[in-house]
Amino acid sequence: MFESSLKQMGAALRAKKISSVELTQSYLDRMAQLNPQLNAFITINPEMSLAQAKAADARLAAGNADALTGIPIAQKDIFCAKNWLTTCGSKMLHNFVSPYDAHVISQFNNAGAINLGKTNMDEFAMGSSNETSYYGPVKNPWDTERVPGGSSGGTAAAVAARLCAAATGTDTGGSIRQPAALCGISGLKPTYGVVSRYGMIAFASSLDQAGPMGRSAEDLALMMNVMAGFDERDSTSLQRNKEDYTRDLNKPLTGLRIGLPKEFFAEGMGSDVAKAIEAAIAEYKKLGATIVDISLPNSKLSVPVYYVLAPAEASSNLSRFDGVRYGYRAPEYGDLADMYEKSRAQGFGAEVQRRIMIGTYVLSHGYYDAYYIKAQRIRRLIAQDFVEAYKHCDVIMGPTSPSTAFKLGEKGDDPVQMYLSDIYTIAVNLAGLPGMSIPCGFGDNAMPVGLQIIGNYFDEARMLNVAHQYQLATDWHSRAPHGL
Ligand code: GLN
Repeated sequence: MFESSLKQMGAALRAKKISSVELTQSYLDRMAQLNPQLNAFITINPEMSLAQAKAADARLAAGNADALTGIPIAQKDIFCAKNWLTTCGSKMLHNFVSPYDAHVISQFNNAGAINLGKTNMDEFAMGSSNETSYYGPVKNPWDTERVPGGSSGGTAAAVAARLCAAATGTDTGGSIRQPAALCGISGLKPTYGVVSRYGMIAFASSLDQAGPMGRSAEDLALMMNVMAGFDERDSTSLQRNKEDYTRDLNKPLTGLRIGLPKEFFAEGMGSDVAKAIEAAIAEYKKLGATIVDISLPNSKLSVPVYYVLAPAEASSNLSRFDGVRYGYRAPEYGDLADMYEKSRAQGFGAEVQRRIMIGTYVLSHGYYDAYYIKAQRIRRLIAQDFVEAYKHCDVIMGPTSPSTAFKLGEKGDDPVQMYLSDIYTIAVNLAGLPGMSIPCGFGDNAMPVGLQIIGNYFDEARMLNVAHQYQLATDWHSRAPHGL
């Protein structure tokens, strides 16, 4: 059952070959066995999960089940879920039990899916290795001495180790795609505004977007059918008609124009990663695609631009954590200002404090024009590069990450090295475009390599089609980590 697709699991549940309680229990057993070494979950609550499974079985028995009814889905701990501890990987929220559901959570609840637990993540989604979590690093199931990527590393490890059927992630600068690549799974960051951010703890609001992570493009399409949709509680949620993201899965790829940005294939990418990407492109040619050389001249500026804009927005978003109404409060303090200072100094980890300081600096009077406004202007140029590129191609492909999973601790004391892990993913967030990563082979140390597929605005169904056709022709996505 752990290797079944969401479609197969749904069919087995509806045919009463297995009950949701049985399915949920078997995942809980596997989590109890494997999570201690992987640390993929921050919170596991069998009682709450099984209560949902019981309700799902009643719905299945009544014959009004949806595609995901009864299926155990893990949720990144950035989503507020009613009565669940919701920490965002931070000591600041170590005691925060959410009184309400994020839009994404209520969408899964309405679909009858089971919340199997809250996955570990970098603190406030800041990181590329999951090492900034207050709850300790997550281990990569392919090699537990290596990182799973971040910030949705708990989700990626849980999916790769078959500790859940599928799970959610969020992506501000690469946090769905990069851990998907490093753990050998599939992940999709939708177009900005397609999935509501209501109840998703904010990092950089103009970049944050939730999306599905799973074992195949077909699974992601079914997840998208649940996650996407207008929500008036998020002012950037887009009012669009409901889509069926599975609708194009089976279209042939004949005539598909794949753009390869020359900047992505210049120096920086590991030779083992390059080999796997080239092989994937060759496979796409066999499937009928044609290759177009394109250029994204400003994409090299995306890392510096992001590290002005994301911290600026974070410094504003994180000002709400002051120890007054909820979250961590320092045990001892003098006056009110001292209480704020001590609570924030003790509640936030080093990386979060670094971002708050950078963000406050670039927004301060005197530096605002030189950094923040300048970065906004370059952001526009980066987005325009894509508009130009899509005049010549249908999708863009390249690596997701310059290297495969690195060792725990390897980049710990060099934030800039860590920031460069997202060199290929960040431009997509700055432009608000959809991007995905699918497994396409293995590198030198037998760690997975991810192929990035970037689509035009609202082209998720086509991207899922492009990924699905590759997954019908290859089996990288069905490889599982050995020894688990
Ligand atoms: N790694 C990037 C950062 O640290 C992106 C994180 C994300 O997408 N949430 O900000």
